[in-house]
Amino acid sequence: MESKILKTVIIGSGPAGYTAAIYAARAGMEPVLYTGQEPGGQLMITNDVENYPGYPNGVIGPQMMEDFKNQAERFGTRIIYEKIVRVDFSGPVHSIWSETGEEIKSHTVIIATGASAKWLGLESEKKFQNNGVSACAVCDGFFFRGKEVAVVGGGDTAAEESTYLSKLCPKVHLFIRRDEMRASKIMQDRVLNTKNIEIHWNTVVDEIMGSETVEGVRVKNVVSGERKEIKVDGFFVAIGHQPNTQIFTDWLETDESGYLKAVPGTTKTSIPGIFVSGDAQDKIYRQAVTAAGTGCMAALDAERYLAESGID
Ligand code: NAP
Repeated sequence: MESKILKTVIIGSGPAGYTAAIYAARAGMEPVLYTGQEPGGQLMITNDVENYPGYPNGVIGPQMMEDFKNQAERFGTRIIYEKIVRVDFSGPVHSIWSETGEEIKSHTVIIATGASAKWLGLESEKKFQNNGVSACAVCDGFFFRGKEVAVVGGGDTAAEESTYLSKLCPKVHLFIRRDEMRASKIMQDRVLNTKNIEIHWNTVVDEIMGSETVEGVRVKNVVSGERKEIKVDGFFVAIGHQPNTQIFTDWLETDESGYLKAVPGTTKTSIPGIFVSGDAQDKIYRQAVTAAGTGCMAALDAERYLAESGID
């Protein structure tokens, strides 16, 4: 890349990054977008997306991200399939370095690096991904309506996902590895008071079973040592997410889980010209549509910043 100072560089290629690119490109900001090592982000491991407005018949995740990318490119976004490995936000012009060692200078940076779901690490979990194994009940729960499902985890996410699934499924088995939940009291109460959620305390999952799709789980009680098999059609892993924010933490404030902090109601960070969007700053909603919304906000915030700074 030439050594000129860019108006805006976008890091990340999920719904937030591409939406920021569409808005920035149409505003004449000539954005350059670095995809990172997983172009398309979490939607690339999602089958059917039925809750993104504008796709009345649903769309598969990779196709949706291809559509986002094409729309961003149509308005002139330059897409580079490299990972950003280091940043220097001491400003006023900001520097980022790609994995090739190249330094890119930009007046504004839009961070859209997303988050990654944590997995248990079982081979069978990989085998059945998108065939009964999911890390998002809101995305995939609908496909299991009327069926028995399992959820693993004891935090707010697991509590929320179990409660959500309990409205679609006759029975939800919730596997918690200790004898207590980490979730907030109100969320725990909701789970405990939902009749069709069965909590299995002190229980870990040994194996997900099935031939083509998930047919059951083999679990172990870590106190008694007892093992048993339970029939389920869906398996939801809800043991947390890891925001992809490691390269920014020397410069930007994060919460205790590593999510970047934005000035409420905006995408501004504590550093002028640096904006955050998508799951890298959102541990609550984590939807494609909310990520796209904050991507749009970040581009508008960056555009205003450039105008106020007299950069054109
Ligand atoms: P979390 O709070 O880190 O909880 C993770 C849960 O998964 C814990 O119960 C943990 O067990 C369990 N776990 C971790 N690794 C495991 C493994 N290998 N096998 C079995 N269980 C395992 O994650 P989270 O629930 O995603 O929440 C993350 C943050 O987002 C929290 O601050 C939460 O409050 C927030 N959040 C808020 C909302 C909301 O307000 N609506 C919704 C979702 C999340 P241990 O307890 O034994 O470690």
